[in-house]
Amino acid sequence: AARLCSGAGGEAEAADGDGAMLQHLARKLRASGPVTVAEYMREALTNPGQGYYTRRGGVGESGDFITSPEISQVFGELIGIWYISEWMAMGKPNTFQLVELGPGRGTLTHDILRVFKQLASVLSKCDVSVHLVEVSPKLSETQAVMLTGGKVQPNPEDKSAYMQGVSKTGIPIFWYRDIQDVPPGYSFYLAHEFFDALPIHKFQRTEKGWREVLVDIDPEVPDQLRFVLSPSRTPATQNFIQPEETRDHVEVCPEAGVIVQRLASRIEKDGGAALVADYGHDGTKTDTFRGFRNHKLHDVLSAPGTADLTADVDFSYLRKMAQGRTATLGPIKQREFLKNMGIDLRLQVLLQNSGDTATREQLLHSYDMLMNPEKMGDCFNFFALLPHHRLLHPDKKDKPESKSPLPPVAGFNELLLK
Ligand code: SAH
Repeated sequence: AARLCSGAGGEAEAADGDGAMLQHLARKLRASGPVTVAEYMREALTNPGQGYYTRRGGVGESGDFITSPEISQVFGELIGIWYISEWMAMGKPNTFQLVELGPGRGTLTHDILRVFKQLASVLSKCDVSVHLVEVSPKLSETQAVMLTGGKVQPNPEDKSAYMQGVSKTGIPIFWYRDIQDVPPGYSFYLAHEFFDALPIHKFQRTEKGWREVLVDIDPEVPDQLRFVLSPSRTPATQNFIQPEETRDHVEVCPEAGVIVQRLASRIEKDGGAALVADYGHDGTKTDTFRGFRNHKLHDVLSAPGTADLTADVDFSYLRKMAQGRTATLGPIKQREFLKNMGIDLRLQVLLQNSGDTATREQLLHSYDMLMNPEKMGDCFNFFALLPHHRLLHPDKKDKPESKSPLPPVAGFNELLLK
């Protein structure tokens, strides 16, 4: 199953023998006291030695959670068409970078590049390069195999990238650990199930005011972790809770905010667009922090480093952090976005072209996974950052009839490829 929305907690699964991360954390907590949930999540997911993504990185059917690009090739194809449609709407610039944050197994970029190849005649005069932001050495290896057949060069001398190669379709690909290392330039950004993996702070309203939820070692049970509340306000409480907040429990992901700020500044300066797809809410949910292992919910504090940890993305926070540097669209539900992108037509074509019953059943099954409101259709959302001029002519206010209408943004409206 996918990491479906909502409902924190779940059955705690017994920790397996792998306790290196727990030992490391227990030592740290004993020495210097409780840590924020954000610090715990960062250690558990991306610690360079023992982090979940660093070592296990279990995206896909044989891993811990499955994602849309791993479910159906149609997903990546429609995203590829979204970029082509925006590229056309923005006047077909003669070069662009496709920048993916957290590419997992590389499947999404692989499917997008297939569309770029199929539409090579449309893109023929455009110089395209791919830039992947990935912290996990294990996953970057998987991506290299998927996208280049494993033919990559580590630490290229003249680049800020830690690895480079050429896609099977002839497009140069570069890997970085941080978005800031990606060279400036006209770029289309993609973040699919990336923001939900970034560390969150958790806060709780108490009679004495807001307190931050922290992770500590349980004094009663050896090497067992537990949640505690900070005895007083923490710096994060002061910075991240709005005075008008009505919820009793709030999660904030400052790292997501910083990355959105960077994306918005880059788009404002160099042009392009960003497409963010994730499960999330618009500033309404409370306790969404959860873990996954072997496709089952997993207690977030049990056997850290062996399970994926995740929290719903707060799109209202992302919108706020764009700080008006770009326009924003969405969030819109995945089933509406994919419908607007023409998924029904694409499914019909694939069904007509597939000879055997098993393939047809597989196509229908994956369509249902992506689109069914009870599966991924409703809880996954699409959100975009676009330059203001993409949505509004600068002179529209003065002379409303002066220019032809701007093409609608595909996905958020029906796709019209001209
Ligand atoms: N987009 C993929 C994978 C999602 S899993 C898909 O939908 O299938 C999250 C991805 O983000 C993994 O590739 C993980 O290694 C990467 N990741 C997590 N934290 C990161 C960080 N701080 N910087 C860069 N990549 C990160």
